[in-house]
Amino acid sequence: MPGDAAAESPSERIRLGVSSCLMGEKVRYDGGHKLDRFLRDTLGSFVEYVPVCPEVECGLAVPREAMRLVGDPEAPRLLTSRSGVDLTDRMLAWAKERVERLAGEGLCGFVFKSGSPSSGMERVKVYTPEGMPSKTGVGIFARAFMDRFPLLPVEEEGRLNDPKLRENFIERIFTLKRWRDSLAHGKTRGNLVDFHTRNKLLVLSHSPELYRALGRWVAHAKGHEAEELFAEYQKLLLEALQLKATPRKNANVLQHCMGYFKGVLGPDEKQELLEVIERYRGGLIPLIVPATLVNHYVRKYDEPYLRLQTYLNPHPVELQLRNHV
Ligand code: SF4
Repeated sequence: MPGDAAAESPSERIRLGVSSCLMGEKVRYDGGHKLDRFLRDTLGSFVEYVPVCPEVECGLAVPREAMRLVGDPEAPRLLTSRSGVDLTDRMLAWAKERVERLAGEGLCGFVFKSGSPSSGMERVKVYTPEGMPSKTGVGIFARAFMDRFPLLPVEEEGRLNDPKLRENFIERIFTLKRWRDSLAHGKTRGNLVDFHTRNKLLVLSHSPELYRALGRWVAHAKGHEAEELFAEYQKLLLEALQLKATPRKNANVLQHCMGYFKGVLGPDEKQELLEVIERYRGGLIPLIVPATLVNHYVRKYDEPYLRLQTYLNPHPVELQLRNHV
């Protein structure tokens, strides 16, 4: 599908591209690395990494002269910092070919090394010819990757220290993996309806508008060829996930969940749930609290629709997401 990075066959784990130095590989210009323990040890328990070091893979040595972006922030040159050797064409040619090969790797996203003239995703320093820097650039490989796969989840290691950005990124890659697994079972209308049903509340927590658009698209599934049907669904799904779930949107979804317990919850249970939703909405407690309470009622009252919802268990508890206010 356009903008996708789907593999021919499904893999067991989430496949994630990553800047090699974040995995501890000694590929930096100074012979060092930038090991990120959360990525390698914690998230690494759930994903299979595809490491990419643009500078080494395009044929440069370790150690090597440092480099930087110079000129137009939208189309900068990549120059070595001291001797001014222009590596732009070499890097662009390599990046063009590398992203095409990555298209067959089944990646669910990419984690880039921040600040790098090759790998940085945003706010990379770009220098004027006179040597004045401004943080307005994108690394050459990162730009080629994002241009090729505009809807794939991408992040930088530094931004992943922000709990909300981390949660959003991880939710997106797990959802994309579930989507890929669903595709691997065949592009049938039945599979599409099944995926849509399970992920309705998750999508609603990101975008009520795209939740409705996806619902309309699935409702008119009979009028479309399978390729078109799945390609458009995927596009809308990934667009929805790009929009962040906020406390207000989450609180609305949790209230929506309450509707499934009408006539089932006792007055105290209802009151308790309402209170924790409001405390969460007000920023007093983390999402894990109302989500756990809803999960408790789902089990206690055996609510079949909510039991299916990925929203209530979107990623492994070991990742300790949804625990912040
Ligand atoms: S930032 Fe990118 S180019 Fe630089 S060492 Fe890391 S992976 Fe290689």
